[in-house]
Amino acid sequence: MRDARHCPACGSLLHFEDPSDPSFSALRFVAVDLLRWAALALLLAFLWAPSEVREWYAALAFVAFAAWLYLRPRQRAQAARLLAHRRYRCPRCQREYAGGDLA
Ligand SMILES: [Zn+2]
Repeated sequence: MRDARHCPACGSLLHFEDPSDPSFSALRFVAVDLLRWAALALLLAFLWAPSEVREWYAALAFVAFAAWLYLRPRQRAQAARLLAHRRYRCPRCQREYAGGDLA
């Protein structure tokens, strides 16, 4: 698992809990990822569409792709910030760590 962390003191697997972050929305995260697939679908539609509606599909694909390019770095930064603030607790020696300490 990508998020798995081990205790620096005793090596056992750490438990974590995410802080409640109102600015982080899992739904929005998924929506931004969907933009990429929407752009791809629109691109395919553009390739197969009759010529009179082709330009619309091309324009929509471009808009979806541009929005994805614009929003994706923000989403990444937000996810990284969330991981850095995540609290980890060792079940064996009861030490606590912040995500930033373990990176
Ligand atoms: Zn430990």
